Amino acid sequence: MENTVETVDLFVIGAGSGGVRAARMAAQYGAKVAIAEEFRIGGTCVIRGCVPKKFMVYASAYGQGFEEARGYGWQADNVRFDWNTLIAAKDAEIERLSDIYRRNLGKANVQIIEERAELAGPDTVRLVPSGRVVQAKKILIATGGTPRKLGFAGEEHTITSNEIFHLSEMPDHILINGGGYIACEFASIFAGLGAKVSLLYRKEMVLRGFDDDLRSHMQKELMRQGINVITGVNIDVIEKQNGGLLVRLDNGESISCDQAMMGTGRVPATDGLGLDVAGVNTTRSGAIIVDAFGQSSVPSIFAVGDVTDRISLTPVAIREGAAFADSEFGDRRHSFDHKDVASAVFTQPPVGSVGLSEIDARAEFGDIDVYKSSFRPMRHTISGSQEQYLMKLIVRTTDQVVVGVHLISDAAPEIIQIAAIAVKAGLTKAQWDETCAVHPTAAEELVLMREKFIAAT
Ligand code: NDP
Repeated sequence: MENTVETVDLFVIGAGSGGVRAARMAAQYGAKVAIAEEFRIGGTCVIRGCVPKKFMVYASAYGQGFEEARGYGWQADNVRFDWNTLIAAKDAEIERLSDIYRRNLGKANVQIIEERAELAGPDTVRLVPSGRVVQAKKILIATGGTPRKLGFAGEEHTITSNEIFHLSEMPDHILINGGGYIACEFASIFAGLGAKVSLLYRKEMVLRGFDDDLRSHMQKELMRQGINVITGVNIDVIEKQNGGLLVRLDNGESISCDQAMMGTGRVPATDGLGLDVAGVNTTRSGAIIVDAFGQSSVPSIFAVGDVTDRISLTPVAIREGAAFADSEFGDRRHSFDHKDVASAVFTQPPVGSVGLSEIDARAEFGDIDVYKSSFRPMRHTISGSQEQYLMKLIVRTTDQVVVGVHLISDAAPEIIQIAAIAVKAGLTKAQWDETCAVHPTAAEELVLMREKFIAAT
């Protein structure tokens, strides 16, 4: 039964990072706002992404920590890990955070509708399953993404990053397919927790899109962690076998494991959203095409975050949501600048990266200077670990501006946050070098590299 219940100024579809930020800010500007969510308030980042993942990263780092502590005199015998304790603690925290999101929406007077919402026209939303209809002056789509399906036989036996946080027990052997953020992070997490890990990647070097030195360094670090990295392969078929899985590869080999996780990318969550009904243009992958202000081909419909497939990162969605609210409901029209967005990959050791890779900088500017240093950190001279760090600066030759920073080190995600300020501000290598080192740290290397790296000819 369809009936128009009310009219709002803004209807937001999807209560994740981008949608919640936009909804709260628009409401604080005085707009009448409703937000619909079909799963749980908080979205991918809070419920089954960045936040629970980071708890698992913390948990897994202790595994290596106990080993390394021996070199420093600690006796860490009979150490054991309990999966269920971690999952329960993580679930409790996620529940708490989801509640905070809910309360903050309530405090801002945003009406929360816990139903799926679909477009029924340029200014109409239909709620499913109730059939209620809401008229909206503006609609913001912030539905995020969903794991990509590959379509091989037996894919139904696999899990994705949606299910990994709720396994009833830790797998003894997990196979992970993919070479991006999710695959590398979970390979590292499970290796740290003590599982046997096989990482399959269809090409030769993980972390495509990052600087090549960083990629090859990370691949070595994953292998050093004991991960079986198998490159140049795809999955042919997966069969159930003795309570586990048999994964047949296209190189004729097969692997037995307990769980197979797909970390093979995410696609915009636009299926069945009614974009065609409303006349919203999308890319071939289903991403909503928007201008710099998040406006789609239909003037009343906007989109932010992963559903637009620009930079699929939580803080980017938040900034896009904030810019939308300021521009459409506040008094400041502006758009988010997608240049020099830093990111981190929470492997062991982790990655931090901002700006251009060496290849991209060369393609854009021609002449560039490269500074890089790869070293065993002080901590491991006693811990016994063979872990190596990488620090690399890309400098534009003409004006000596640092246009790229690429790190693999302890705390690289923390360091890159600060380095990103300098890159965004366009500081020169000389200005970096004027900054006095903090000693003894690994990050001091960033202001101490004086020799340009000259590639062998
Ligand atoms: P990514 O795009 O990072 O990686 C996808 C991987 O899957 C790539 O290695 C890709 O290979 C591979 N792949 C794609 N299609 C196929 C296929 N048909 N067969 C085999 N392999 C395939 O996506 P993720 O799923 O890792 O993460 C999704 C997004 O979420 C990321 O882009 C990132 O923006 C975000 N994220 C951010 C995190 C962070 O900030 N730390 C953590 C986790 C996710 P190829 O390289 O050849 O294309």
